[in-house]
Amino acid sequence: MSNRRLKSRLNLGETLVSALIILVLFSSCFADIKLVYPAEVFQGRSFIVFIASPEAGNDYWAEFDNKAVRFYPYEEGLRAVIGTLPEMKTGDYDLKVRAKRPDQRLLTEVIYITVSRRIYPKVSFWLKPSKKKLMAPDLVTDEWGRIEAQLLKESPNKLWRGLFKLPVPGITTMAFGTREFVNNKPRSRHRGQDLRAPVGTRVLAPNRGQVIVAQFFKAFGGTVAIDHGQGIDTLYFHLSKIMVKEGQEVEVGDLLGLSGNTGISSGPHLHWGMSVHNVRVDPIQWVKTVMP
Ligand SMILES: [Zn+2]
Repeated sequence: MSNRRLKSRLNLGETLVSALIILVLFSSCFADIKLVYPAEVFQGRSFIVFIASPEAGNDYWAEFDNKAVRFYPYEEGLRAVIGTLPEMKTGDYDLKVRAKRPDQRLLTEVIYITVSRRIYPKVSFWLKPSKKKLMAPDLVTDEWGRIEAQLLKESPNKLWRGLFKLPVPGITTMAFGTREFVNNKPRSRHRGQDLRAPVGTRVLAPNRGQVIVAQFFKAFGGTVAIDHGQGIDTLYFHLSKIMVKEGQEVEVGDLLGLSGNTGISSGPHLHWGMSVHNVRVDPIQWVKTVMP
């Protein structure tokens, strides 16, 4: 075989290798990572996607229902907690797991999650005109905007541990996801769990975290929000007294304040909300199931 012939063979081999490298570089799938996720999720529930053996140095996130959610370190891998709305349309959804490599190259893996129906109750109630005035959309939007601005800030450390405890011992008077009709007009889904609590009931931190909101609003009344880390927050409305300060760290069982009937409230109770990357989800799931 002549030198020239050998050279051309080598070139062909190099071309093949290059083609293979290009194929791998542009292929959107992750070669070595393993994704663990539920095939089915019920409306209003939270779920977890794990990445076992992620490639070091990559920046990972998930995209679900037009929302990007970060992955955070968990044991040997990474995990993302994703919330679904109670009114989310049932059916199959794409969940894109994306990674940006240090060289800025983007990898994508698509998995499928079925969102299944969960039956939520329906309730009608009346508000006195003085309370109804507080439901002016501008007021609610403005006040909610101030609370939401805090929920949107994600702190990187996981502060919660194990199960969440109920913040008051009372029974549920209105479950999360309930379709509310106020003075015969349909309103949005109930975004929290209402727990029966006579005015003055001690409201306790359900888990470890940091207070991010502690102030009185017209629509939400006495309000506390706790950041449990990594995009997980809890909310407490209608308090008569607030006994924590913004920035304060709390342990499970610490006194946040006293329940009341302030703001838009049809009677003494505690409205307890749970927020997963700014999606309000069923808090009772977090009381019954450990979210790692
Ligand atoms: Zn409520």
